[in-house]
Amino acid sequence: MANNHVTILEIDTQALEHNLTYFKSKLNPETKILAVVKAFGYGSDGVLVGQFLKDKVDYFGVAYAQEGIALREAGIETPIMVLHPQMQNFDAIIDYQLEPCLYNFKTLDTFFARADERLLLNYPVHLNFNTGLNRLGFWQNDIGLLLSKIHDNKHIKITSLFSHLAASEDLEEKEFSINQINNFAYITKQFYEALSYEPFIHMLNTSGVINYSKAQFNMVRVGIGLYGFGNDADETAQLKNTHNLHSVISQIHLIDRGETVGYNRAFVAKKPTKTATVPIGHADGIPRAVGNQKGFVLVNDQKAPIIGNVCMDMLMIDVTKIKCKEGDRVTIFNSQEMIQTFSDAAETIPYETLTAISSRVKKMLMK
Ligand SMILES: *Cc1c(COP(=O)(O)O)cnc(C)c1O
Repeated sequence: MANNHVTILEIDTQALEHNLTYFKSKLNPETKILAVVKAFGYGSDGVLVGQFLKDKVDYFGVAYAQEGIALREAGIETPIMVLHPQMQNFDAIIDYQLEPCLYNFKTLDTFFARADERLLLNYPVHLNFNTGLNRLGFWQNDIGLLLSKIHDNKHIKITSLFSHLAASEDLEEKEFSINQINNFAYITKQFYEALSYEPFIHMLNTSGVINYSKAQFNMVRVGIGLYGFGNDADETAQLKNTHNLHSVISQIHLIDRGETVGYNRAFVAKKPTKTATVPIGHADGIPRAVGNQKGFVLVNDQKAPIIGNVCMDMLMIDVTKIKCKEGDRVTIFNSQEMIQTFSDAAETIPYETLTAISSRVKKMLMK
């Protein structure tokens, strides 16, 4: 049963390693790296990526506790930050040695109370500061109360302080970003003055590293860059593609002029047409937006437009001009350029295209 999948996402570990090395080359040698493996490693496989990177990075970052538990259950012992922990998971977080990022007094008080009840000692927690994204985080004027709650608390240790840029990829927002960096630096300074120890500090995501590497502090959090995307074509060209999505031709049909293909008869053949049916659909992460000739796939290295509406489990392509047979490989994407074109066709960004690849698609490391 293990090898019966035909729609497969192959994760290129050589590309992952290349991308990691590229980001390291942009940073000071002592700057730590947190590899963001949330959302199943950006639609790949968080555990496979985690196992590959575990000795090559300092930290892993996940959004939710469940994602961190999956890494621990796979035997990964690298420190793991849970970027958006939910209070009902605090016990699981402790059981699995995950490190919560606390972002308001409700999460902080609740976690501190659990740490107290469970008699934890110096349990690592991280504090998230809002400096302009207005998503999660303490505000600058919370610092006084925060320090009073942290002071003399032996159960927890503020292991790091962090913030997140709102527009790190957008140089038109440079002034805003620099303001965020300066405000965050001011916040961290107050902690360093008040605490008897120095939490490490981090702020930059992928495009932050590319545009504001001076603000690398002690660590950076790289996500999309590890998976091959910088914030512009030049940066992306320095990186390698990690996500290779392919399937096969299930069936070929020869249809006459006037016949239609798929639901709602959306494709109407203007001439005799050879179509191929491919077992991947919107339930696998192929948006309906790439149907009706908006997107294409490759069959024997040639472009085959997606015709008609993308179905839940299948899509149909026009292979009239392509020499092919049932069982031949179909490449949905195997380069950053293809992922970008696919994303443009779906009016979205590579982040969404990659993370949309569903759990029904078999994931494996590329050989
Ligand atoms: C997702 C996330 C990242 C990674 O961002 P990329 O742009 O993918 O590098 C970093 N930090 C936080 C807080 C995040 O939520």
